[in-house]
Amino acid sequence: MRLTFLGTGTSGGVPMIACTCPVCISTDAKDKRLRSSVMIEADGKTLIVDTGPDFRQQMLRENVMRVDGIIYTHSHKDHTGGLDDIRAYNYVLKRDMPLYLDAFTEQEIREQYAYIFSPNPYPGIPRVQLHRISGDAPFVAEGIPVIPIKALHHQMPVLGFRFGHITYITDANYIAPEEIEKIKGTRILILNALRREQHISHFTLQQAIELIQHIKPERAYLTHISHQLGTYNDVSQELPDGIFLAYDGLKVE
Ligand SMILES: [Zn+2]
Ligand SMILES: [Zn+2]
Ligand SMILES: [Zn+2]
Repeated sequence: MRLTFLGTGTSGGVPMIACTCPVCISTDAKDKRLRSSVMIEADGKTLIVDTGPDFRQQMLRENVMRVDGIIYTHSHKDHTGGLDDIRAYNYVLKRDMPLYLDAFTEQEIREQYAYIFSPNPYPGIPRVQLHRISGDAPFVAEGIPVIPIKALHHQMPVLGFRFGHITYITDANYIAPEEIEKIKGTRILILNALRREQHISHFTLQQAIELIQHIKPERAYLTHISHQLGTYNDVSQELPDGIFLAYDGLKVE
């Protein structure tokens, strides 16, 4: 199984439009963060977690010729804004795109993309096939077994996903003890860490590190990063052993 970080930035991306802070003007490629998403490749299948506004650019950068299905963590636009661009795969693969999503995310995506679900659709719109999932039951997405992890993003329920020994959780700031049990034993844990200062809906760097040290994976990667966190180089130097900042294009096996 291989996981690729398609994007590792928070909702505005890094650099942020019209910002001249040291992170946003950094020339280090690791300080260029598209909106957060990952690609999972296993048993010849390719799944994408979330289609943010940079989905098209991410698919072109990674030269992704085939997407078998998409799983959604939640319905915020930085995780859904690229859905229209699945049309390319509808056309090339000649099939509707399977979307795996819970009831609330489905409801929100139906509102955000009303034209896709119109009873009398315009020709050439994205074609999707909906698969309802819930945080309470493991599911199989295009042959790949997935354990959902329930988390809270302020008061909004979001889903993280465990794929075998890799667990991906973005946009959370609370995970209940019984959900943490589902993560335990994972070798690689990916967790969101927005910045150092408190935030209403995201783990801070310190909160993420404490949770990782409680769960004790072999390695952990931090994602959904704001320009306020600092440069890749500066922050990397202060992280405990086994905890790394993710960056766009990073692959873990
Ligand atoms: Zn987000
Ligand atoms: Zn900035
Ligand atoms: Zn969010």
